[in-house]
Amino acid sequence: MSEITIPKEFGTITADAVVIGGGIVGSATAFWLSKAGMKTILVEKRDALSSLTTAASVECFRTQFTEKSMADLALASVAMFENFNDVVGLPGIDIHVTQRGYLFVTDDEAQLPDLKKAVNQYHTIGIPGAEYIGKDDLHKRFPFLAPQALGATFNNRDGWLSTHEATYGFAKGAGDAAFYMKTQVTGIQTDSRGVCAVNTDKGTISTRLVVNCAGPFAGIIGKMAGLDIPLRTVRRQKAYIKTDLSDLPVSAPFTVDLVNHGYWRPEAGGLLCAWVDPDEPDSPPADELPTDWDFAAESIHRVYPEKSRGFM
Ligand SMILES: Cc1cc2nc3c(=O)[nH]c(=O)nc-3n(C[C@H](O)[C@H](O)[C@H](O)COP(=O)(O)OP(=O)(O)OC[C@H]3O[C@@H](n4cnc5c(N)ncnc54)[C@H](O)[C@@H]3O)c2cc1C
Repeated sequence: MSEITIPKEFGTITADAVVIGGGIVGSATAFWLSKAGMKTILVEKRDALSSLTTAASVECFRTQFTEKSMADLALASVAMFENFNDVVGLPGIDIHVTQRGYLFVTDDEAQLPDLKKAVNQYHTIGIPGAEYIGKDDLHKRFPFLAPQALGATFNNRDGWLSTHEATYGFAKGAGDAAFYMKTQVTGIQTDSRGVCAVNTDKGTISTRLVVNCAGPFAGIIGKMAGLDIPLRTVRRQKAYIKTDLSDLPVSAPFTVDLVNHGYWRPEAGGLLCAWVDPDEPDSPPADELPTDWDFAAESIHRVYPEKSRGFM
């Protein structure tokens, strides 16, 4: 049975594999390593799993990728989300998979050929369910869109889930893996054969396999092992808006405006919205980021700049 603990000082211990970072990627990695029969220890410097980038996400997943490698990963991941209870072997887990699709919308005529091309590519590389939707159908099927919306790509299998439940589901189902909270990696030792130990502020773990799942801190962990990983870290944000707008259906898909890069999806009692700010500068990884109080207003403006544009 896996264990999530805050360990006392442990001197030197041994593991087949050490996973650094307890976000969704680390937790899933520890799950699969333990399933492969490896004695696995995950170390997380914070006091809980799923508490840094994973907690900040809008939690969406999609199958619409034009690169085959990405599509293969996404299709396998979505199939896993759809059967999560069986995968982790815990019937009581509910990761709240909500499949209402991703709708990539444009009101720019020049983008329409690219959208059609993307859908052809989805079909060529074997993504089921992807469709191009022209203007007339678009407004019939998604009446909340602004009148000037011209076309979209859509796949009803895309959607969102609870990343918190998924992260803890992987951890709970991870065989006899150990999850050490409040344990910070301070160094990685190497010898002629490669990695040989992970130093933490609680002790040393001898191992020949380290998986770097440190999210925004992955570059710093890489440096500990002598690797220069070409990563840039950029702050991203989201806003939750409580709203009683009657033209906002709770059954709406995750809707992305391809022109101004705003996006939104329904969330209990309102919506989550955001946009990718092209002017946001790179910044070093941080455990706490300042709240940007203008972001919510700017996000609303992006997804709903004027009444006539509507939510697109
Ligand atoms: C606003 C926003 C919206 C997003 N929306 C989506 C979305 O809809 N869909 C999607 O797929 N992705 C989305 N993302 C991206 C997604 O959140 C991340 O890709 C994902 O959560 C990364 O998970 P992770 O486990 O790699 O990293 P994290 O969740 O950041 O976990 C890394 C962990 O490593 C730990 N760590 C770091 N250094 C050390 C150390 N020295 N010792 C011990 N532990 C350490 C950290 O404390 C942290 O808990 C979004 C991101 C943001 C910010």
